[in-house]
Amino acid sequence: MKLTKVSVTIAGITLGGMAGALLQLNAASAAIATVSPRIVAATPSPSPTCRPMTLSIAFTNNVTDTRALGLRLPWGRPGDAEGQMIEDYGAYNGTTVREQLPVHDITTGSLVELSGHNAIDIILDSGTPLYAVTSGTAYRITNWTIPGGPQGWASVVVSDVLKDDQGDPIAFLYGHVREFDVPNGQHVVAGELLAKSGGDPDDPGAGFSDTANVHFEIIESPNPLIAHAGTVNPHQFLENLYAHAATGPAGCT
Ligand SMILES: [Zn+2]
Repeated sequence: MKLTKVSVTIAGITLGGMAGALLQLNAASAAIATVSPRIVAATPSPSPTCRPMTLSIAFTNNVTDTRALGLRLPWGRPGDAEGQMIEDYGAYNGTTVREQLPVHDITTGSLVELSGHNAIDIILDSGTPLYAVTSGTAYRITNWTIPGGPQGWASVVVSDVLKDDQGDPIAFLYGHVREFDVPNGQHVVAGELLAKSGGDPDDPGAGFSDTANVHFEIIESPNPLIAHAGTVNPHQFLENLYAHAATGPAGCT
């Protein structure tokens, strides 16, 4: 297992940790994503009690009022002791499994074949509640892994308020869950409990994971449940989301 020292600042707190080999992927059906990274907001439903959010959506240029998205934190609260990032987007290079995975790298604005990790992994105690970032349809994925290996479980929300320029859905994937808390295919609202985190080798659905964590992906794809392709880097988005939650009015993120 390749170890990499990484650090990140979330909500003003510098976090660091040792990276581990934790990723899971069904690469067999990965498809090339050709979509633009720009996102448009649909069916806005702003809360009258919240001022317009200043949150920047890192992978879009054209969301002008993020309040309309009704975004919520995927886990925890700003400044929680947990939340240590152990694997950053693109950082994983200890295996050849992902070498042909196409990833939309927002740092270059281009679709690339990245020998790396198309998500970030955050240390969470096993059993931590995971919530929907946006409203959408929740799915239970129980074969989210490298074919032939231990099968990991993932909870996916296909958003109904975030779409890319071509109308393809934006999906949020929470990997290594040990428990699903909504039926497959059920519509959820932002902030609704989706699942409990796992990743400890003793947890069901841990797959290849060797420590308790959540693997968080943002996916742009016409088939987000089949192809783990067209991902965008969730790092800055999460930083912005938690930073906003730390300073914004209660109940607005
Ligand atoms: Zn991961």
